[in-house]
Amino acid sequence: MSELPLPPGSTLGILGGGQLGRMLAQAAARLGFDVAVLEREADSPAGRVAAHTIVGPYADPDALEALAAVATVVTYEFENVPSATAEFLAARVPVRPGPHALAICQHRVREKQFLNDAGVGTTRWGAALNADDVARRVSEFGAPCVLKTSRFGYDGKGQARVANVAEARVAFDSFKREACVLEKMLPLQWECSVIVARGADGACVNLPVQRNLHRDGILAVTQVYEGVLPAQRAAQAVAATRSIADGLQYVGVLCVEFFVLADGSLVVNEMAPRPHNSGHWSMDGCDVSQFELQVRAMAGLPLVQPRQHSPSIMLNLLGDLWFARGAKETSPPWDQVLALSGTHLHLYGKLSARPGRKMGHLNITGASIEAVRATALQACALLGLEAF
Ligand code: ADP
Ligand code: MG
Repeated sequence: MSELPLPPGSTLGILGGGQLGRMLAQAAARLGFDVAVLEREADSPAGRVAAHTIVGPYADPDALEALAAVATVVTYEFENVPSATAEFLAARVPVRPGPHALAICQHRVREKQFLNDAGVGTTRWGAALNADDVARRVSEFGAPCVLKTSRFGYDGKGQARVANVAEARVAFDSFKREACVLEKMLPLQWECSVIVARGADGACVNLPVQRNLHRDGILAVTQVYEGVLPAQRAAQAVAATRSIADGLQYVGVLCVEFFVLADGSLVVNEMAPRPHNSGHWSMDGCDVSQFELQVRAMAGLPLVQPRQHSPSIMLNLLGDLWFARGAKETSPPWDQVLALSGTHLHLYGKLSARPGRKMGHLNITGASIEAVRATALQACALLGLEAF
């Protein structure tokens, strides 16, 4: 390992070329770092802003050698990196967060087991490794339940809500009988998430608690301001996230998603070992964003507690918006949206829109909670987004 902190001009490696890699590269550039992206596609959102792109699959040793040769430290922008890939890289260059945290966060059975062993509450769940497990768990928990594949799920993909044993069996077959978890569907009062950044020295900082609204299993709106959640719950979520990061000996940015249940209790839903969609508001609502925190953690630079300077709302911009005015792909009216003061548009440079595809996000800041909400609702009306 080179001397820490890494000097400007060093190259940070990123596995994956999506929007998280793109925004990480932008934050890296501001601090004088270059990034090298390893990605299957030659043209990717991150590749378009990276100094180097290595094109290849994540399991290709030559591509990984090339990344390790150019990068001083490596991270990933999505968690479905094979363990063997993380281990291969870790033998050559520091990988942050490390392969151990990745292995836990990328697999729902390991993740829930880890949390429960650490005394952290989750939804009621059980491993469903075969059709008998699936049937037994549904009978035991009572419907409705949700069946989730252990790996590769995102944005509600790889999961099915089931009302009885027969539906659960069909869902398990549709997932090719891969290892799954079965969870009891719980009545949710709120969803929220917490992002922390932890350094190699154990120093840990956090963003304020984010209240999240999902539609069809995909994050739609994040709101962050004083009083958005009861203070006691918010403090509990932050404390739990910090203790999870400590327990994982984590280095880098970690996001923990929580459910607040109907009775007011708090349980963990899942973790993401990377910057997270629910933290995008920090790019405009805080003096230090989640991406800058990740760069700092990778480079061994000091982690400081971010200061939120404005009440903030983030609206996710899914590909559906590009088809709101007919079957032909048409860009939404950005000029009208940007005419609203306090709007900050982030587009990911994706070449084509598809329904459900994350194309960008709109951050909204305001001098007051009333102001930020009013602007967000005006933006929703212009874009054809449902009010919240
Ligand atoms: P993903 O990896 O797709 O984000 P999640 O497990 O976070 O998967 O599920 C996506 C969303 O589905 C959650 O944010 C929540 O709105 C809903 N959901 C998932 N599991 C449950 C559950 N056990 N009870 C109630 N709602 C759930
Ligand atoms: Mg989730």
